[in-house]
Amino acid sequence: MQLKNFQYNKIIREYDKRQLDNRHQLEERIKEIYNLFPEMKEIDDQIVSNSIQSAKLSLMGDDQALTTLADRNMDLSMRKIEILTENGYSSTYLTPSFQCKDCKDTGYIGKEKCHCFKQAIVDLLYSQSNIKGIMQQENFSSFRYDFYPDSYVEETTGLTPLANIRKVVASCMEYIDSFDTTYANLLLYGNAGVGKTFLANCIAKELLDRSHTVIYLTAFQLFDILEKNKFNKDQEKEEANEQFAYILDCDLLIIDDLGTELNNSFVTSQLYLCINERHLRKNSTIISTNLSWDNLNTNYSERIFSRIASNYKLLKIVGDDIRIKKAFSN
Ligand SMILES: [Zn+2]
Repeated sequence: MQLKNFQYNKIIREYDKRQLDNRHQLEERIKEIYNLFPEMKEIDDQIVSNSIQSAKLSLMGDDQALTTLADRNMDLSMRKIEILTENGYSSTYLTPSFQCKDCKDTGYIGKEKCHCFKQAIVDLLYSQSNIKGIMQQENFSSFRYDFYPDSYVEETTGLTPLANIRKVVASCMEYIDSFDTTYANLLLYGNAGVGKTFLANCIAKELLDRSHTVIYLTAFQLFDILEKNKFNKDQEKEEANEQFAYILDCDLLIIDDLGTELNNSFVTSQLYLCINERHLRKNSTIISTNLSWDNLNTNYSERIFSRIASNYKLLKIVGDDIRIKKAFSN
């Protein structure tokens, strides 16, 4: 999984910029606070002078005096927090703020790439920033239960669409909560427009927020990459190779709208390769499809079907076409 130099540099530049922005923001805040409350500057000067004193004392081995100075600095730090909170500021106003607390926006934890760095690679390879924009709108807090009727019982589920979707969402929540400890896959199926993609995006956002690497691809995009990986030469193939490695390796792969791609024996064998390899690596996959359970069986090979049947939790979503409802409610 080699990133090309220019790609690596692009990500590193992002991190440099982020660190610079953080520093700049902190300096601005310190300036603001010193201006408003000159006592803060005196306290900081005192803390620095105490620290220098401590360094000298530690050379001389005077432990007693060291402890006293450490206590004094602790009191001074408390006093700083008091001044901030008494004046309506947050107690962490002068603490550096990071987008990723785990690596402090350096991209690395020790010598290892941080999860945020890995996701940055994924974003770069798949231009997923667009998806992130969608996730800001399509997440559990904007999920609309009122799109699901409660007025009739749907035959196959034995529930009203509303009761069914509540059950499905509960299963998705459970899936998210046990993602770290339990390997599991989901198949979201149902007619077009019942909210499968929306739900997949909700799950993706939750897992991204919990520091997992997530790749979202429509079936069409996925097979396009797989095809390039197999047939194309040189430059394009090299890129597709890298993408393929991440497709197998990311924490969660979402294959949206399976069944809309042009189906042929190549697609079928590649799909099997992809879901089987992820299964062997215990990397989770979510598939959404408009195909019925029977059509899934006839459209793809027996071994794909049995992989899905034995390793995926099936969640059927029923209801009316939400896209039509949305168009009328706007
Ligand atoms: Zn990080």
